[in-house]
Amino acid sequence: MKQFSYSRAVDAPNAVQTVSASREIKFLAGGTNLIDLMKEGVENPSALVDIVRLNLKQIKNLSGGISIGALAKNTDTANHPLIRQNYPLLSQAILAGASQQIRNMATNGGNLLQRTRCPYFYEVTMPCNKRAPGTGCGALEGINRMHAIFGWSEKCVAVYPSDMSIALAALDAVVNVQGANGQERSIPFTNFHRLPGDNPEKDTNLNHGELITTIELPKNNFAGKSYYLKVRDRASYAFALVSVAAGLEMDGSRIKQARVAMGGVAHKPWRATEAEKFLIGKTADETNFKQAAEAEMQQARPLEHNEFKVDLGRRAIVHALQKAMNGGRT
Ligand SMILES: Cc1cc2nc3c(=O)[nH]c(=O)nc-3n(C[C@H](O)[C@H](O)[C@H](O)COP(=O)(O)OP(=O)(O)OC[C@H]3O[C@@H](n4cnc5c(N)ncnc54)[C@H](O)[C@@H]3O)c2cc1C
Ligand code: SF4
Repeated sequence: MKQFSYSRAVDAPNAVQTVSASREIKFLAGGTNLIDLMKEGVENPSALVDIVRLNLKQIKNLSGGISIGALAKNTDTANHPLIRQNYPLLSQAILAGASQQIRNMATNGGNLLQRTRCPYFYEVTMPCNKRAPGTGCGALEGINRMHAIFGWSEKCVAVYPSDMSIALAALDAVVNVQGANGQERSIPFTNFHRLPGDNPEKDTNLNHGELITTIELPKNNFAGKSYYLKVRDRASYAFALVSVAAGLEMDGSRIKQARVAMGGVAHKPWRATEAEKFLIGKTADETNFKQAAEAEMQQARPLEHNEFKVDLGRRAIVHALQKAMNGGRT
């Protein structure tokens, strides 16, 4: 591993100022992703600024919604009474990720910024436009079973791995960040992560040195009818082949609003807007759920080894909507 210096930030402005000084300096939160990447030689910062002790851990009610600290641990977030009661979809999605030990270390901000699990990205002897721009994409013509079916480009076909973020996309989260000179801005979750386009090295629209401070969620009208479904190769320590965060708000027997977001299918959390549009005003039954899934999956462009994700995605949307309608029960 390349040698690096380590320091602890005293407060948020100090952390931002230090990291903004050079692209070689990075924030360190729980370290569960960054340190792995440094050991593999994928990330090579010259300095780490430890932010994990900063006072950004609170989870509290806002008028109508909730504010979640970027440095609250995944475990504490998933188990917090306000989250369990009002945002069960988020709780389920966090608990579907990693393992208890990792969730005890992992922070919410770090979770959002975890990097792809594409094996070619981790293998530094292979071409990878995300790790080394201009070298090519090993996965495009290689083994791409785990890769994208939506929104990919010739430059990169990777998928984004976070479970938590799929629920946040469905719940219309907003990410609050602080930049140099104390500048603050709020980024709607759907604009936070990026599709690869010509610049797959950029995972998000965050500028270097910007610190995620809080994640805000509006009032949740889907709490009673929501479900996070994760389909994976084995029951633990596995990233999603396909996941679906689903929520339904009813007006009598008709669907007033629907939320469907997918994981494991694109370079960012994929809001299934075609499925959502189809469901509004319909009755919540299997026929309509199947048609909604079909409307979404028509846009899929599978690669050589992941055609199976199209049918899996279709069935996962139907199943997640059925479970949501049933209050998350079987
Ligand atoms: C074996 C294993 C299995 C896993 N399985 C899953 C899974 O199934 N599902 C899933 O969703 N995740 C999974 N994970 C990933 C895990 O959830 C992430 O590693 C974790 O959430 C990252 O959080 P962290 O605090 O450790 O981030 P770090 O590793 O400390 O940081 C990650 C990145 O975020 C940046 N950063 C951190 N905090 C901030 C901030 N506040 N503002 C700006 N930048 C910041 C850092 O500079 C770094 O670039 C798994 C991890 C492992 C090791
Ligand atoms: S899919 Fe993206 S991350 Fe994977 S090898 Fe291609 S460019 Fe790299």
